[in-house]
Amino acid sequence: MHYTEQDIYLIEEADNFNDLPKSIREKKILESLENQDIPNHIKDFVGSEELKHREFLQGAFWEKIPAFRGVPTEEFLDIKFQNKHTVRKVTKLEELTKGLVDTKFVDEVKKGMQRAPMNLSISPYIMSLIDWNDPWNDPLRIQFIPIEKGFRAGHPKLILDSLGEQNDSPVDGLVHRYFDKVLFLPLDVCPVYCRFCTRSYAIGGNTESVDKLRFKNAPDKWKKAFAYIASRPEIEDVVISGGDAYMLVPDRLRMIGEILLEIPHVRRMRFASKGPAVMPMKILSDAAWTNALVDVVNLGREKGKEVVLHTHFNSANEITDITREAMLHLFRKGVTVRNQSVLIRGVNNTTERMVELIRKLSYMNVQPYYVYQHDMVPGTEDMRTSVKETVELEKAVRGVTAGFNTPLFVTDAPGGGGKRDVHSYDYYDEITGISIYRSPSVDDSKLYLYFDPIDSLPPEGQKLWEDESVHDALIQNAIKNSGYQSLEPVL
Ligand SMILES: *Cc1c(COP(=O)(O)O)cnc(C)c1O
Ligand code: SF4
Repeated sequence: MHYTEQDIYLIEEADNFNDLPKSIREKKILESLENQDIPNHIKDFVGSEELKHREFLQGAFWEKIPAFRGVPTEEFLDIKFQNKHTVRKVTKLEELTKGLVDTKFVDEVKKGMQRAPMNLSISPYIMSLIDWNDPWNDPLRIQFIPIEKGFRAGHPKLILDSLGEQNDSPVDGLVHRYFDKVLFLPLDVCPVYCRFCTRSYAIGGNTESVDKLRFKNAPDKWKKAFAYIASRPEIEDVVISGGDAYMLVPDRLRMIGEILLEIPHVRRMRFASKGPAVMPMKILSDAAWTNALVDVVNLGREKGKEVVLHTHFNSANEITDITREAMLHLFRKGVTVRNQSVLIRGVNNTTERMVELIRKLSYMNVQPYYVYQHDMVPGTEDMRTSVKETVELEKAVRGVTAGFNTPLFVTDAPGGGGKRDVHSYDYYDEITGISIYRSPSVDDSKLYLYFDPIDSLPPEGQKLWEDESVHDALIQNAIKNSGYQSLEPVL
């Protein structure tokens, strides 16, 4: 331990430990820990591989994109730079990756875009983190850039609004499915567009394959949603999603927060944003936005109500030292951040990748809350996993870190059953890939079905789905075997 002359003088003068200045007390504590004999190490020491979640990418990693070479840190961290250089067209993608990828890849993207349910929108931050030596298998490429090769015949049961949100919507932009919580959708834009978005029926503008419903980012359109919430005393919990709270200008974010906190029965609010995963610098450089969020959190605390941020990291590859700084900033301001991931083939469906993600999030004080079984949305069949695979992963993950940092693995039951523990199915057949869930808190008269992607099934299961005329019989058989024939299947 290094003590300065001044330290030594103070130590000699002090009557007891607590009279010492903090910096010396800290040194003394460390010194006393170092000098202990450890009687018996019952476990082997771990290697750096097991602690890699503590390493955060530093330096000017964006310089690997030729167009960003020489961009100073300050400019790259500026949210205006991120917005200005966001890739919204394939031609821009082509321009930025010239010399990094072959034309075959760009051709694949062009063809992929014609079938994709989501538009292209990729931040310079994400562009700079993709491994352009192998974009085909890169976990960020998989999430944000469609390629023709990835499209496979979708399961016959895929539908656009697979969660049936539109059926549970009392006014535009509001979903009231559960007893005491609502989902408020004040806008339909995000800083990036995820290929697998469950709300591809509305988010991100029309594409060549989908005409969308719109959620207007306009306060006069929100009035009905606020009035509905105020009129229903059972509602205690409001999820503000979309779209993405990153895209709300500070005044509107503040306004939404202030109005909802004024409703006496509203006790909990969460702002949902993918932002920290794809543009973490906004939290550091857009003080007006961050302050608006912090103000709403503080106003809530004053009123005895909880306001938190829910975000959406899917892999450790999205996390850099900028993210760590941003999450530290929010932590110091007293903002609780929780994470909801989607389980995606090729992105986070191995124990190693999922554990690294969970540990990295925990290390930044971001609490892993949910891992979603991939919803049954069209155009994303290459990204889904089977229920069997998800349950195995859940088993492997439970116990690797604190229980409160261990995510619940859930299936949002197709057709509006709501979230179910993925392993809580009432019936599951690994061969047909059919799982059946009851959801008593949402509707105890119904049965909800989820279907594994066909290419994840064993050969005999794949064969069964080849013949369209037996699909109904497969489903009816599953319902019969579940023992819940008396309930009504939502199909
Ligand atoms: C997910 C969701 C919520 C919030 O559910 P939690 O399990 O509390 O996170 C609320 N409403 C709808 C419609 C949802 O899909
Ligand atoms: S950020 Fe969320 S709402 Fe926006 S495209 Fe991605 S998954 Fe959909």
